[in-house]
Amino acid sequence: MSDTPILKIAVNVPLSREFDYLAPTSGPSPAIGARVLVPFGRRQQIGVVMALTSKSALPEARIRRCEEVLDETPLLSPEDLWLIRFTSEYYHHPIGEVVAAALPSLLRQGKSLHPSVERITITETGAAFDLEALSKRARRQAELLVALKNTQAHSLDPDLLTKTLPTWRRAASALLKKGLISISARRAEDFDEKLSQEPQTGPTLNGDQDRALSALRRSDRYGAFLLDGVTGSGKTEVYLQRVQDVLDDGRQALFLVPEIGLTPQLVSRLSERLGLKPALLHSGLSDTARLAAWRAARSGAARLIVGTRSAIFTPLKNPGLIIVDEEHDHSFKQQEGLRYSARDLAIAKAKHLDIPVILGSATPSLEILQHCRNGSYQHIVLPERAGEAKPPKLGLIDTMRSPASDGISEPLAEAMRRHLDDGNQVLVFLNRRGFAPTLICRQCGYVAACERCDSRMTVHAREQQLRCHHCGACRPLTEQCDECGETVMPLGEGTQRLEESLTTRFPDAVISRIDSDSTQLKGAMHDALQSATLGHANILVGTQMLSKGHHFPGLTLVGIVNADQGLFGTDFRSSERMAQSIIQVSGRAGRERQEGEVLIQTAFPENGFWKTLLEGGYRQISDEALAEREITRWPPFTRLALLRSAAHKKADAHRLLDVARHHLNSEASGSLRILGPVDAPMARKAGRYRAQLLLQSSERSTLHRVLRNLRPILENDTAARKVRWSIDVDPVELF
Ligand code: ADP
Ligand code: ZN
Repeated sequence: MSDTPILKIAVNVPLSREFDYLAPTSGPSPAIGARVLVPFGRRQQIGVVMALTSKSALPEARIRRCEEVLDETPLLSPEDLWLIRFTSEYYHHPIGEVVAAALPSLLRQGKSLHPSVERITITETGAAFDLEALSKRARRQAELLVALKNTQAHSLDPDLLTKTLPTWRRAASALLKKGLISISARRAEDFDEKLSQEPQTGPTLNGDQDRALSALRRSDRYGAFLLDGVTGSGKTEVYLQRVQDVLDDGRQALFLVPEIGLTPQLVSRLSERLGLKPALLHSGLSDTARLAAWRAARSGAARLIVGTRSAIFTPLKNPGLIIVDEEHDHSFKQQEGLRYSARDLAIAKAKHLDIPVILGSATPSLEILQHCRNGSYQHIVLPERAGEAKPPKLGLIDTMRSPASDGISEPLAEAMRRHLDDGNQVLVFLNRRGFAPTLICRQCGYVAACERCDSRMTVHAREQQLRCHHCGACRPLTEQCDECGETVMPLGEGTQRLEESLTTRFPDAVISRIDSDSTQLKGAMHDALQSATLGHANILVGTQMLSKGHHFPGLTLVGIVNADQGLFGTDFRSSERMAQSIIQVSGRAGRERQEGEVLIQTAFPENGFWKTLLEGGYRQISDEALAEREITRWPPFTRLALLRSAAHKKADAHRLLDVARHHLNSEASGSLRILGPVDAPMARKAGRYRAQLLLQSSERSTLHRVLRNLRPILENDTAARKVRWSIDVDPVELF
């Protein structure tokens, strides 16, 4: 053995190991946490130095050298590397891919932490140029000039240009040669959190909030707290005070939210009340903006960081607190690639950093409730709405007795009229999970199906299209059945159909539909929510999107149109989810002085679920669900991992899982249950056959031990070459 240090480097490839390299021959050796450029096979790759060692399994002569050190000082701190390693080990995912997920894309591509920003400006000659003549000869060049001319400063950032004119670079180089534009570069600006307005003061906390805050203030060290407060109970006020403490201490707070697009109200509230600009991290940002926010968190220039799932990996200079708002929301769990739960990582990170973590929800997940029961997390309850608001009244409408024509039953329509006549707002909610309008043949009963998935096509009436919500396939809406040629008709309610029938019933009302289709355009969501908040719309129609965290002051009635899907769901989580979704959307009603009402249409009013929900609320639903899970041995009383496999041929998808099963059998462990391989509940998706193998154990350690041994076997098995496969630890979707 020699004394030359060997660098353990994480490279973005799907292999569960680090790779050994030597430092470059000249210059200083890279530090742990720095990026390096390394030869990998016949290509070059960017890697991160995870550790230094003196030993390698390879003879020194065969160890290759780094070509370049990209960071003079470590880009990632030991704490950041700790989280990356923890994530890789817990989710059994290749370390290099975890590093890639943790870095903003510009850094992943090897760009500098402080990249210079280009600015394209139109010159005076350019501004005076004959655009008409140019547009005949070179349309793209003319388009670029027009775009520049139309801005106030006569200049634009490349990021913005790429969005509007994706191929602008070629046009730009021609224009540059002609002297019609100029390109300059400057260093990216540093983040400044200062605002010109003074912070606003909030309401005085009520008794419950006060008690909650004191419990949260007891220590600045690690502790996991569930802030379990009904919708409108003032959880956000409690967060705000606790965040303020941390900021006063000169430390940073990381605030995780399910989807930032849905919570503009929260972001402006945080910013107005704390009197600073938070660094925002979410998928809607340009690469440059994302890097700027990441850098601000890392340098400490931003003290409040608000972000979605992936923000959990953001380096913090001086962390003091992590908050996970709406912890039950499934969007905290990534459903592809690295299948991590940002909520669970938040707890692990807080523990490692020895800081508190607050998990907030009106409908806490059973996993977290169980942790409270066994004493590892502290349960803090806000039982009542804050201020003057009262809880909404829930009631059922029996659709067997009062059929819902066009989605709306007569009793619901009547209630709507009553609330609208009083000058209030109404929300009509469609529970769309696994449910959408389809096309059925009147003659043979054939339902329009996707050719690439085992699923039905969804009717999009306005666009006159059938779309598959699983693979994105679309085709024109037909009038005749594919099978027998007879007339087809739409079956079931979609938001579009509902909107149309409401327009007929309430011709004088302003109706606003808010769902994933109506809000695809940039800014559309913001505009729709704004107008809903200001009360411009009388009736809001929408799906899950509308249930989350919004505060519509004039809203007093929520009608839940199709609540029954969750009653008979096959997933062990169906009833938990349905209760969450109903409670969350009900929470939108009557948030100010006027009392709220919630009417639920169901064909099964006798079902025990309704009695429990109406009489005992979410508390009783979750108590009963926990008791049931304990008996049936589902999470949180056992741990799950799901091995998924997908291939063009069904046999290939199964073959890899057979290999896994065979290996697991030989590992024989009393507490391990292996279920499968079986076809996935949706056996074909986007043209691939999908199969799965479920592992279950009462001990987390057993599950981790077998997965640790299994992963390299699968990586190296020839059967893996023909399939896409993945390991999902703590899966939330079992398909
Ligand atoms: P949550 O986050 O639990 O949904 P919020 O913090 O958004 O609740 O509070 C709901 C509403 O009640 C907001 O309009 C808020 O301003 C108001 N509110 C919260 N706490 C109080 C209080 N102590 N006194 C009066 N109003 C309050
Ligand atoms: Zn499809």
